[in-house]
Amino acid sequence: MISTPEIWAEFFERYYKEELNRLAYKIKTGGDGRSLYVNVVRDLLIFQEGKLAEELLEKPDLVYDHAVKGLMSTSNIYGIALEGCRPRFYSLPTAKKVLVRNLRAEHIGKFVAIEGIVRKVTEVRPRIVEAAFGCTNCGSINMVPQEESQLRMPFECSKCSSKKFVFLPENSVSVDSQRVKIQEYPENLRGGEQPQSIDVVLEGDLTGIINPGDRVIVNGIVRAKPRTVQKKLVHMDLYIDGNSIEILRQEYEEFEITEEDKQKILKIVKDGDIYQKIIRSIAPSIYGHEDVKLAIALQLFGGIPKKLPDGTEIRGDIHVLLVGDPGVAKSQLLRYIHKIAPRSVYTTGKGTTTAGLTATAVRDEVDGRWTLEAGALVLADKGIALVDEIDKMRKEDHSALHEALEQQTISIAKAGINAILRARCALLGAANPKYGRFDRFTPLAEQIDLTPTLLSRFDLIFLMTDDPEESRDRAIAKHILDAHQLGEMLERKRNITLEYSEEMLKAKSKKIEPAIDPELLRKYIAYAKKTVFPVLTEEAKRAIEEYYVSLRSKVKENSPVPITARQLESIIRLSEASARMRLSDRVELEDVERVITLMERCLAQIAVDPETGQFDIDYAFSGTSKKQRDRIMIVKRIVEELESKTDFGAPEEDVLNECEAEGIDREKAKEAIRKLKQFGELYSPRPGFYKVISKI
Ligand code: ADP
Ligand code: MG
Repeated sequence: MISTPEIWAEFFERYYKEELNRLAYKIKTGGDGRSLYVNVVRDLLIFQEGKLAEELLEKPDLVYDHAVKGLMSTSNIYGIALEGCRPRFYSLPTAKKVLVRNLRAEHIGKFVAIEGIVRKVTEVRPRIVEAAFGCTNCGSINMVPQEESQLRMPFECSKCSSKKFVFLPENSVSVDSQRVKIQEYPENLRGGEQPQSIDVVLEGDLTGIINPGDRVIVNGIVRAKPRTVQKKLVHMDLYIDGNSIEILRQEYEEFEITEEDKQKILKIVKDGDIYQKIIRSIAPSIYGHEDVKLAIALQLFGGIPKKLPDGTEIRGDIHVLLVGDPGVAKSQLLRYIHKIAPRSVYTTGKGTTTAGLTATAVRDEVDGRWTLEAGALVLADKGIALVDEIDKMRKEDHSALHEALEQQTISIAKAGINAILRARCALLGAANPKYGRFDRFTPLAEQIDLTPTLLSRFDLIFLMTDDPEESRDRAIAKHILDAHQLGEMLERKRNITLEYSEEMLKAKSKKIEPAIDPELLRKYIAYAKKTVFPVLTEEAKRAIEEYYVSLRSKVKENSPVPITARQLESIIRLSEASARMRLSDRVELEDVERVITLMERCLAQIAVDPETGQFDIDYAFSGTSKKQRDRIMIVKRIVEELESKTDFGAPEEDVLNECEAEGIDREKAKEAIRKLKQFGELYSPRPGFYKVISKI
């Protein structure tokens, strides 16, 4: 072994002269930071033919101690001892990067690099490294180094051998300490695998610098501690004793896109029919639903996130909601997207962790410290969150979701923890109707447990109804049967005989095979998101403007507003995504037309007031159409007029009669009364009587 404090001092003085002076200056002026950052690959690996680096990585405990001592003995222009300074090693050789799931006994005690996403962080709290105990007999102070989580007492007083002590916190030596949980990247998991995670202990100036959702490389020593269930067990839990953290702020390369991949992608686009090809690459085992598949494809490619000169940030992420009857393959679609989308996180509305969909502060089960934990939307930052049964989400998630979908952040202010986490993700949600099946004659907002404002955050909402229709039913049945039959044949071939020819199986697979191989599609999407930034052409702008104005102008004064500026922005985002899909630098008329057609079909499903047959966005989102709103206002006025008739307010019978006289039938009037009560506009002093709640 070549490592000694002297050789480390030589290394530091040769490669880090300036940093040593800077460190000394900080100590002299009382500035923050006592760390010296050493780039392993760039500097340590070329020193002494890499021997010192190798020894550090293989025997870190011993060698690190040399490095600390060596650092302390280096000289600097201020002539100050670098007392208490710590070398921190980053940029480890690739061979030392270990996936969380591959950590094994052989790694214990080794210096490794772990890369992942920060899932949880605890509060920063002092940890005692050397505890002071006063002897109650002779008064002398005994110092005891602390390594375990339980406070260790002196065996006996070093002066008088007495065994009675009091703990002296002020005389003890503490260091800031924090525990964080690092989880594997969602995008590195193959279909449906559960991500694994590992705890990292951070101390000193490493504390308080990372947040849930950050993507980091943690370099440090793998430690094992016996599991404890009252007694210590022989099974061990691994954790990392953190030495340095690299926060990956820049866009991170999820896959390598080779020149060959690039040529393949360009060819697919050049061969034409790209939209059909992509649609046929999304869940080909699911029959039909082509609009939904196109919408999801647009979502995967995404619009352009923008920062305007006034600082305004506009999201490029597209949010899509699938509402529909049970058994129409909503969940199946989401699971498929989880497999093909780069950076996707799949969860259900109920959530699989305490953090649920968003993020939360919870008490740590181990040491009771407050812990900030990231939920699905934070973990899906820069990706796509797939949330099945989103209507079943917890109440706490509702308001957080508003913020997440529009501002793309999640703020937490709880138990002294204040944090704003990034959640720049697209959301694909699926919801079931409250009453089992969807009813065409009741507005959307009344049928699912999502608030109107939340619904309006979605760029596209699809209604997937399951109405029996013979030709379609037959086609779906055939499709599902063919898929199952093919599956049976493949299994039979795998397990028993080779009686089916390759050609026959290939022919049968054709229908269910994606047009673009999923692996290539992932690369295609990543490539487009990284390299294609289309700009609206004048023609496209005019087309969007025309569409928007024409819809708005169709309505007369005081009639339902069919479309709002929100939908205008959605059209822009979706058009950008459409241009990206064909790798175009310009958003052209064809993109706008494609998107408008899609959006009209969505709106036709959800935003047509069945009473009037007109487009009415309010009907979709608030469950109250313009006509209903007018009716409600009339009913309220009537109650107000009849209110003084009795001490208890307006009698229901009288109100209904008066409504009838004004052309509102009794059932509709009752419905309006119910709504007014629900909105807190009316109250009943006693059953059958109503008063208006006066607003001050
Ligand atoms: P949901 O989540 O909408 O209630 P699921 O995704 O659980 O429905 O789908 C139920 C089953 O029906 C799945 O096995 C799915 O593959 C099948 N299925 C439903 N619609 C189709 C379709 N159009 N094509 C192929 N399979 C379908
Ligand atoms: Mg489902």
